[in-house]
Amino acid sequence: MANPTLAIVGRPNVGKSTIFNRIAGERIAIVEDTPGVTRDRIYAHGEWLGRKFNIIDTGGIDIGDEPFLTQITEQAKIAIDEADVIVFVTSIKEGVTDADERVAKILYQADKPVILAVNKVDNPELRNEIYDFYSLGFGDPIPVAGTHGIGIGDLLDKVCQAFPDDQKQVDDQSIKFSLIGRPNVGKSSLVNAILGENRVIVSSVEGTTRDAIDTKFVAPDGTEYTMIDTAGIRKKGKVYENTEKYSVLRAMQAIDRSDVVLVVLDAETGIREQDKHVAGYAHEAGRGIIIVVNKWDTVDKNGYTMHQFEQTIREEFQYLSYAPIVFVSAKTHQRLNRLPALIKQVDQNHSQRIQSAVLNDVLMDAIAHNPTPTENGRRLRVYYATQVAIKPPTFVIFVNDPDLMHFSYERYLENQIREAFDFTGTPLHLIERKRK
Ligand code: GDP
Ligand code: GDP
Repeated sequence: MANPTLAIVGRPNVGKSTIFNRIAGERIAIVEDTPGVTRDRIYAHGEWLGRKFNIIDTGGIDIGDEPFLTQITEQAKIAIDEADVIVFVTSIKEGVTDADERVAKILYQADKPVILAVNKVDNPELRNEIYDFYSLGFGDPIPVAGTHGIGIGDLLDKVCQAFPDDQKQVDDQSIKFSLIGRPNVGKSSLVNAILGENRVIVSSVEGTTRDAIDTKFVAPDGTEYTMIDTAGIRKKGKVYENTEKYSVLRAMQAIDRSDVVLVVLDAETGIREQDKHVAGYAHEAGRGIIIVVNKWDTVDKNGYTMHQFEQTIREEFQYLSYAPIVFVSAKTHQRLNRLPALIKQVDQNHSQRIQSAVLNDVLMDAIAHNPTPTENGRRLRVYYATQVAIKPPTFVIFVNDPDLMHFSYERYLENQIREAFDFTGTPLHLIERKRK
């Protein structure tokens, strides 16, 4: 089951993003640099005393050019829609303001726990002023100081207590996948077309997120799939629905719950900047990826068109070189029947395990053909490698000195592994460790 979600709300400048970064901590810093992925995060993973959860900084979701009060109102609504627990941040510096009361009014409508945090309580004397905040009506305010990390542990204790109990792990062998992409590329059309091609066995399985509706179906070969709906897809019409940050947020939540992600592009409009953001998040999350070019029916084609489009994609999404590309049409159903088998193949590759002996044969051959690099007269030595994880396949390579492993040589080793085994559709993680 998916991890619970915490959303942070409050008027601007109370310290929401400071607290968000505190909670997400190093997790944000360690994500690898993927071109096109924006650095101002609104969604991250957190962990407190072994409990894993997701965090949303609603303050980072700007709702177009709307006036300030509309912005904070809509942000509070997003928190109510998306989160299991809401942390309402205020500041001791300004005390209770009209804007705080405005936020409070929206949050009264939430039928989920709201925890009130009073930020910027940098020193103990300020604690006397905290009583004013009872007037907001959310019980005991928790004093914190985001910049110093004071009180964050107490806050997270409260948050974790308020999370719903761990849902029972249902025995579900189905392959989970989602379709992500910017608005209008045809995600909902594809969802409906794919369901039309297959036998739906349980429709509308209640997801963990309020709006998420998952659908299970069986492909003609008998394989079960669960299609994770990025709510935006089938439930359109909210004010904040069309903002880029919100669609990225939905995409990230869906990616989190998927084995395989279908990154949908639009053949009619071509590739846009926002496509790269969405694809970058899928890549960073380490899921299996298939690039689906939709609306192929709209393109005037000759013998080279598909090849040219493919080349453009390879240039624009270099980090996704492992992802297969399919050209489809939700309108005419062209090639849609190929998707289930491809998703299944990618899922298998994503969870494939390679025996150490076989893996080491491949690596030693690779090194014999193309010797390891040297730096200042010192040569990289590779002793042995072993696969330590799946989803995505992760290999630890024991070496004399990890600093001697150049990016290009690592790329070479990765390519050799890919030539020896079918890892189509899955990223591979290579980690160098110094042998003790
Ligand atoms: P947001 O707009 O609610 O996301 O607020 P930010 O996190 O951007 O913080 C707004 C300002 O308050 C920044 O200048 C922060 O450095 C400052 N700030 C955040 N937390 C604290 C705190 O605990 N104490 C003090 N004194 N300042 C803080
Ligand atoms: P979403 O926002 O990504 O869910 O996109 P929609 O499924 O709502 O589709 C956006 C528009 O593209 C709608 O007008 C669809 O009818 C149209 N559309 C979707 N798929 C196709 C396709 O394969 N071919 C054509 N010609 N139009 C499509």
